[in-house]
Formats: sequence, structure tokens, C-alpha cells
Amino acid sequence: MNPLYWLAIAAVVIVVVVAAVLVVRSRGRALPPVEERPRLTPAAPAQPAEPDEGAAPAAATAVESHTTTLDVPEAPASRLVRLRRRLAGSQNALARGLADLLSHDRIDESTWDDFEATLITSDLGVGPATELTTKLRQRLAVDGVVDPARAHEVLRQELIALVGPELDRTVHSIGAPGPDGRELPGVVLVVGVNGTGKTTTVGKLARVLVAEGKTVVLGAADTFRAAAADQLTTWGDRVGVETIRGAEGADPASVAYTAVSAGRDSGADVVLVDTAGRLHTKTGLMDELGKVKRVIEKIAPVTEVLLVLDATTGQNGLVQARTFGEVVDVTGIVLTKLDGSAKGGIVVQVQRELGVPVKLIGLGEGVDDLAPFDPAQFVDGVLGD
Ligand code: GDP
Ligand code: MG
Repeated sequence: MNPLYWLAIAAVVIVVVVAAVLVVRSRGRALPPVEERPRLTPAAPAQPAEPDEGAAPAAATAVESHTTTLDVPEAPASRLVRLRRRLAGSQNALARGLADLLSHDRIDESTWDDFEATLITSDLGVGPATELTTKLRQRLAVDGVVDPARAHEVLRQELIALVGPELDRTVHSIGAPGPDGRELPGVVLVVGVNGTGKTTTVGKLARVLVAEGKTVVLGAADTFRAAAADQLTTWGDRVGVETIRGAEGADPASVAYTAVSAGRDSGADVVLVDTAGRLHTKTGLMDELGKVKRVIEKIAPVTEVLLVLDATTGQNGLVQARTFGEVVDVTGIVLTKLDGSAKGGIVVQVQRELGVPVKLIGLGEGVDDLAPFDPAQFVDGVLGD
């Protein structure tokens, strides 16, 4: 028989086998069961065993349709590996100050002064920098001799204490039962100055929530530019969730209202509302954000107000935090662009300024570049551990 004939058969067999392997592997990447995935948000309280009529079945169906199309987001642990690399960079004043301190075998007065000065330039803030220096002096410099391993451990402990390991950093996205007994969606309102990363954060957060098995609706309440709603819609499509938008120039509160009522009617678990940060006067900001929140709460309580701050803006971010803190009850901070800033100290300052914890951090522009903020891992990143 013609050898070409056999060659052709062999080629067909190889193609079939490769295709089969690819199909099996792509199945393997389907979402693992909800309970095996890392969470950014608290697990829903246990539901009664008997199925609820109404909202519950609708939500369950929607979850299934999403889980078949999405792949698994990167695990928070491996996201943090990237943070570590970046925080421990040589341009990080906090990391540099700590490394310098640890490099001395005797610490004298002027070493402590240098250390404190370096901490202040690291965006840690004057108060926390002084507190940390005082604590370390008390614990380390009893006789001026420093054991590097012990110094390292004490530093680690004191830094973690400064960041606040006891704070609740979960994103509150679980709705309560409404007046008619039906479960309302959790509502997360995302606020902040333009360009800080609000829309990107909403998109990334939606992806995480969907991966946790939740149904999500996005509300494009930044109506100043059509491009803003387009950007959010693109995220929604990418993540596989519905985006509610209004016409350019529409009342942001009315878009937010429509989004939350759509979420309630479809039995969604969470509605994420993106807002505009274009407003420069505090009165305008107060009026608009206040109205958005009030109008939403005609339907469902806002469970979380996330203030998005760009870590690269340093002190400017603090001024923004103060302004937004005065106009809305911020309940959590998202610190974005930590990948480009190396100014980790801002975490401590901004938490003190607002009295609320940093809950999430942005590590880049990609879909998986959002991580829960973990004080110990963050400190290890700064120390280069
Ligand atoms: P908004 O105006 O607050 O909605 O900001 P956007 O979400 O539109 O983001 C503004 C720019 O910052 C975009 O180019 C984003 O890709 C970028 N961005 C957002 N978050 C991060 C982050 O964590 N790291 C980096 N490097 N860029 C980010
Ligand atoms: Mg935006």
C-alpha cells in the first residue's frame, strides 16, 4: 500500500489524540467547588436546608451559567508573591530603613535618628514612625548590642502590630433580608478620585465574587463620560456579569437605583456600584455621593463603601481620604498601584486617617491583580522575607 496513505492516517490519529488531551485539560481548569477557593469576602451564613421559593433558585441558575464559562482566578497567595518582589525593591524607603537598621551590630543614637528619618520619608507618617522607633528602642537597644535575628523578629512583630492584624478586612457583600423577607443583594459602593482605579477595582472584584459562586450586577454610576460606562461594560462582559448603565449625563443616583433594583429583582447576591470622582468641590461631591447612597438605600442598605486610593500619590491620597471620609461613611480602603509605588508605609497612615482598614490592594492592571490585604504578608514583603 502507498506509504503516503499510512502517513496520512498517522497524522489524523495524532491530531485526534492532541485534541482529546486539550479538551481534558481545559475541563480540568473549570472552577473548583466554591468552598475550596480562597475568599475575599465572608462566606454566606448557612442557609436553611429546604429551598426558598423566589430568589434562591434564580440565583443558583445564574451561578451555574457563569461557572461554565470562567476559568480560575489566580490564588491570593501567588498574587502576594508579586507584591513581595515589588515592596522589597531598593527604592522602598521603608524596606531600606529596616535593612539599614538590621545591618548594624551596634545601634547608637545617630543610627536611631537615621532610622526614624527614613521611616518618615517612607510615607509611614510622622506619628507611626516615631512610635515604631520608640518601641524598637525599648525592645532592642537595652545594651546597644543587637542580635540581627532577634532584631528582625521584633521589627516584624512591631510592624504587624502597627498595621493592625485585628482589623476586620473582609469586604461586606452579604445582603440582609428585606421587608418582604426576601434576601436583598449586598451593595458595594466604590468611591474615589478619577484615575485612582475604581472601575478597574470593580471589574476585578466582580471576578473574585463570581469565582466565589456569587451572582453580581454592576452599576455604571459614573455617567459623565460614555467611555466610563463602556469601560465598566467591558469588564462586565469579560467577567460574565450584567452591567446596568444610563445615558451619558444621566443622574448617577438613578443609574445606581436601577442597578440595585435590577439586582434585587434578579435575586443577585451583590451589586457593585462604580461612581465618578471628577468632582472637585466638596459640596458637589457631598451632594452627589450622599444622594447616590440615599437613593440606593430606598431599596437595600449599602453594605460596604470602598474608597479607592492610588498608592503612588502619597500625601495627596491622604488629603483625598480625608475629603471622602467627611462626605461618606467609608468602611474600607482599596490601595491601588502598589505595584508601581513601593510606598507601602501609606497603608498605616491612611488607616489612621480614616479609622478604617485597608481591605484590598491593587497590584497591576490585569484581571487577577487584586489581592486581599494581609498584614503579616505585607510586612514580610516589606522586610523582604
Ligand atoms: P477610575 O477613574 O478611578 O475608574 O480609574 P480606572 O479604573 O479607570 O484606572 C485608571 C488607570 O489605572 C487605568 O489605566 C488602570 O488600568 C490603572 N490601574 C488601576 N489599578 C491599578 C493597579 O493596581 N496597578 C496599576 N499599575 N495600574 C492600575
Ligand atoms: Mg472609572
